[in-house]
Amino acid sequence: MPCSLYGCNVWRQLPLKVYEMLEVIQRYFSKKIQGLPKQTASLVSLDNLKLRTIQAYIDKQALLLLGRLCRSSCGYYFKQLFIGRLAQYICNGVLNNRCYRSPCFNMFRLIQKYSLCDDVNEYIMSSNMHNKAKWSLLINNNIQRVESIEVMRQISARQDLRRYASIRSDEFHRIWILCQRFPHKFSALATLVRIGSSKMQSRECRCGIVAHDFIRHILMSCNINLQERNDLFERICDIINVDYFVMLWSNDDDDILSFLLGGMPHGVNKIEFETWANIMLIVAEYVMKWKPLFMYSYSL
Ligand SMILES: [Zn+2]
Repeated sequence: MPCSLYGCNVWRQLPLKVYEMLEVIQRYFSKKIQGLPKQTASLVSLDNLKLRTIQAYIDKQALLLLGRLCRSSCGYYFKQLFIGRLAQYICNGVLNNRCYRSPCFNMFRLIQKYSLCDDVNEYIMSSNMHNKAKWSLLINNNIQRVESIEVMRQISARQDLRRYASIRSDEFHRIWILCQRFPHKFSALATLVRIGSSKMQSRECRCGIVAHDFIRHILMSCNINLQERNDLFERICDIINVDYFVMLWSNDDDDILSFLLGGMPHGVNKIEFETWANIMLIVAEYVMKWKPLFMYSYSL
C-alpha cells in the first residue's frame, strides 16, 4: 500500500473507481487482521479499528503539502508558480476556473471539502499561515469530523447494521482494547467482536426456529442454551452493582444484547471499567461455549 500511494500528495483528483480500487485493499486487510468473515460489512470492519478511508489519507497528504507550500519562501520558483495557481483558481475566496487535472486545483477543492477556506483566505490576506503542528491538527480534526459524519450516515442507512450501530463507539472498538489487556483471552474476545460485527440476518437455529435475527435469538431466547444463559445472567448479577443491574434489566432486549456484545446502552454507560471488563470476559466465555450453536448457521 505505501508503494501504491507514493507521491499521492501531488495527485490530481482521481476518478472514483481508482479510489475504490485502493479502498478494496484496505477493506480486505482490515477484515483479515480482525479475523472477520468475508460477509462482514466493510463499513464495520473499518469502523471497528477507526480506520479512515484511503481517500481521506490522500486528501490529508495533499493538504499537508499545501501548508508547506504556503509557508515556504517566495524566493523559490515552485512558490511563485503556486501563488500564480492560487490567483488563477481562487477569486474573492471562491474556487473558479475548474481544472480537474491540476494538483493545485485539487488542493483548493479539498480546503472547501474540509472547511478550511477561512484559514487559506486568512493566508491570502495576510501571508500568515499556521505553523506545521497547528495546520496538521486542524486537518486531522476536520477530516475526522467529515469521515465520522459519513460513516454514521452510512451505518444508520442500513437496517442490517442496526445492532452494530447500538454497539459501536466513537473510539477504537472497546473489546479490542480489552484484548490488549487480556491477551490470554484473545480468542474468546475476538469471537465476541465477530458476533457483534455481523449483520442482522434471518437464519434457522438448531432448535428448529427460523429467527429473524439469529444472533439475538441465540443470546436472548434460544431454548437450547436456556440454563447456561440463566447462569450467565446470575454471574453478571453477582459482579455488577445493584443499581446498574436494575438499570440494565429495565432496558429492552435489544439494549441488553448490545451490552452483552460490548455496547454501552443508556443507564450503564458510567459503569466502572474493571467491572465492565470482568463482565465481558464472562460473556466471552459463554459465547465460546455456544460457538457450535452459532456455527450451525454462521461461519465464525
Ligand atoms: Zn434456537
